[in-house]
Amino acid sequence: MSASSMQVRSDLLREQNFIGGVWRNAREDAWLEVVDPASGKGIARVPDSGAADARDATRAASEALPAWRATTARYRAQLLKQWHVRIVASTEDLAKIISLEQGKPLGEARGEVAYGASYVEWFAEEAVRAYGDIIPAVVAGRRMMVVKEPLGVVAAITPWNFPLAMLARKAAPALAAGCTVVAKPAEDTPLTALALARLAEEAGLPAGTMNVVTASRANAAGTVAAWLADSRVRKITFTGSTAVGKELARGSADTLKKLSLELGGNAPFIVFEDADIKAAVEGLMRAKFRNGGQTCVSPNRVYVHDAVYKEFARQLVARVAALRVGPANLPGSEIGPMINFRAVEKIERHVRDAVARGATLLTGGQPVQNEIAAGPNYYAPTVLGEATHSMALASEETFGPVVALFRFRSEEEVVRHANDTPYGLAAYFYSRDVSRICRVAERLETGIVGINEGAFASEAAPFGGIKESGYGREGSRYGLDEFLATKYLCQGGLA
Ligand code: ADP
Repeated sequence: MSASSMQVRSDLLREQNFIGGVWRNAREDAWLEVVDPASGKGIARVPDSGAADARDATRAASEALPAWRATTARYRAQLLKQWHVRIVASTEDLAKIISLEQGKPLGEARGEVAYGASYVEWFAEEAVRAYGDIIPAVVAGRRMMVVKEPLGVVAAITPWNFPLAMLARKAAPALAAGCTVVAKPAEDTPLTALALARLAEEAGLPAGTMNVVTASRANAAGTVAAWLADSRVRKITFTGSTAVGKELARGSADTLKKLSLELGGNAPFIVFEDADIKAAVEGLMRAKFRNGGQTCVSPNRVYVHDAVYKEFARQLVARVAALRVGPANLPGSEIGPMINFRAVEKIERHVRDAVARGATLLTGGQPVQNEIAAGPNYYAPTVLGEATHSMALASEETFGPVVALFRFRSEEEVVRHANDTPYGLAAYFYSRDVSRICRVAERLETGIVGINEGAFASEAAPFGGIKESGYGREGSRYGLDEFLATKYLCQGGLA
């Protein structure tokens, strides 16, 4: 399918950058082809921008900043609410665009629109709550005040797996705080970001407050470098790989920007012997197979206690083998295509390596290509048993529909293994023992813990990691603070 034959509101299908309230081509007039991951065919083209376009966006954002930061929080909240209303009203169109360029089943894409929109609504509501403080004076005749101010221009760099939600949960708090935004979406999924910008324009966000620049993988670093070098950009908010996150941290050092980095994970999912097995299987299905396993909180290592291993594996395999693989727009599809062929290659490498090192293949284990899943990027939902820590999938994020089951015998042992990774984004465990729940939740070294729960993400909760999964939080009241500077005002001579 091509983007234009998709029956989407035509003005949401944008093939230009949005800079300073104007839709325009890249200065070099270079183009990037957007590909449908289901067919591998081109569907649209967007600007392949470079540093000059990024600088134009910075100029627009910094020119818009003084007026925007001077608006009242109530005014910004109203515009964000308008944006929210338009996103929700465009759910069907946005979901089609997400599915087309990213590959997730349409039902999941609708879910992503609702999820992304919930951040816009939340931060519209939070905008008016960026409270300061009055501190009891330590010296007579003084007043000590704390006020929160917007940081300035924010650069948002987003990944392809949730093209709408990742941008919404960065741009909405930034705009709510009174910052202006320059954004670069992932090269695989620029159309969703441009549609979101169009809706921001329609909602009446002033020119220059929200800018989007698209670029190919080859030009990503060069485009973003213009923001890293520019002292007017005061904050980088990034979701993506740990390797690129570290590059951005290094690149921000010269101008000492504030950073929020939401990076890779290697989530453990632990099933203790006292767990409700059925609930644990359901929780794993929800956590693991959303977006075909292409989420940063996707369980990567599933530890199952020896005493319940056989039963858990039996129930899990029955569920996984029944998952339907197919294109996003086919009703009933549960697992869409992987984002691109590189993703499929990595999954294949992990599965081959695991089997060569002694894993047993319980279901799946190969790419799928048939009349329904008629494309190069489909991979069968897979369960591997008897996984060990010498396998590549124990230390690298697979980012696909592959579950690896590790057997364990003691709480001590499994917590040690769960924490034995440089990453620390999310962990999950299932247990009905109240003291174990407290103990294990405390000992897991991650920013998020799902306890008897496989789906925890919410606009009302702080999302983010520790260790090499990054720092900073998105969502909740903590998410607004990431875009605010704390200023202390000390007034004397009042005695
Ligand atoms: P993934 O592995 O999920 O593709 P990446 O970290 O490679 O994650 O990409 C996330 C985002 O970072 C995308 O928008 C991508 O274009 C961008 N990106 C990739 N490489 C760089 C780089 N060297 N500098 C800045 N941004 C980059």
